[in-house]
Amino acid sequence: MSLIICRPSTFYWRSIRYCPTEGRKRRFVMAEAVWYGTAAMCCGCGDKWDLKFGRFQRPFGRQWRRKAIKKHRELWKQARTKREAWDWIKDQLGSEAVAA
Ligand SMILES: [Zn+2]
Repeated sequence: MSLIICRPSTFYWRSIRYCPTEGRKRRFVMAEAVWYGTAAMCCGCGDKWDLKFGRFQRPFGRQWRRKAIKKHRELWKQARTKREAWDWIKDQLGSEAVAA
């Protein structure tokens, strides 16, 4: 018997959307993982949301916000467009997605 270990790969894409924490439009990095849904990470305040379940719990520890903002901005640099994200997802799902 063989066991297949499936590690989800994540695709990052850029989005400008409203940040509920700051009450204004911000740059967001969207993390798209097939089967795991989408997470939105704010480059302005460091908060992070799951599009289905709402805001992630904020980490403990000092300066988490500063670290999170830095991390999100790094991801923003390597993030792609939404169009590329969808192409990637279709690719991951294979021909099933095309048939649907
Ligand atoms: Zn924010």
